[in-house]
Amino acid sequence: MSERQPLVAANWKMNGTLLSMQPLVDTIKTGLAGSDIEVAICAPYIYLPELSQRLQGSGVATGAQNVSEHEAGAYTGEISTTMLNDFNCHYVIVGHSERRSLYAESDALVADKFAQVQSAAMVPILCLGEQLAEREAGITEAVVARQLDAVIDKVGIAAFAQAVIAYEPVWAIGTGKTATKEQAQAVHAFIRQRLAQQDSTIAASIRILYGGSVNAANALELFSMTDVDGGLVGGASLKAEEFLTICQATR
Ligand code: PEP
Repeated sequence: MSERQPLVAANWKMNGTLLSMQPLVDTIKTGLAGSDIEVAICAPYIYLPELSQRLQGSGVATGAQNVSEHEAGAYTGEISTTMLNDFNCHYVIVGHSERRSLYAESDALVADKFAQVQSAAMVPILCLGEQLAEREAGITEAVVARQLDAVIDKVGIAAFAQAVIAYEPVWAIGTGKTATKEQAQAVHAFIRQRLAQQDSTIAASIRILYGGSVNAANALELFSMTDVDGGLVGGASLKAEEFLTICQATR
């Protein structure tokens, strides 16, 4: 880990209930009290009011898992950045692989969402990552570069001063099959280097999280890699004690 302040972000996906989230949030909040570990919880939209209220004064940030690329208007079922701002939302995940693959979100749409999040003064967590077939075909770097370049082309490199990147190999998400620390480090270094071609200061300061079956047993070795600045955690973020252990692994 470098001098960059690590971040651990929970992605609850479409899990939990109002009742189950309350003890989960309270245990995480209590477990982190007095520590300076930077943590965010990205919850389903409908739980954001309750989440942000429970997190008030705790130092744990509220985040969303998606947002509309539009500012407002006739977009039935969508949620705007203005609405997220109403609930003290700080981070918004954009381009999660489940959004890309299950909801056909293109690189261009992800770039639009990234821009929309920043225009509302929130911080995008931009997810990048290759499918298993792409890794096996040896095109991991080309895929990640394409996904990254689509956003740089839209918003410019300067915008990355206020952003977080999450490298999430799709084959490792929710599968229990974590990338090795060397595989993660190699792609993180590639992403940083690609950003550095345009701005070395931003490249050196941006946090690049690893995501894909991070758990209490593997977090420490993943987070020990030079270019891994914390994690984006799905399944393991639904278990308070395990999530706390992952947060502690940034130390
Ligand atoms: C994710 O949702 O971004 C994720 C990495 O999930 P999991 O930790 O369950 O693999």
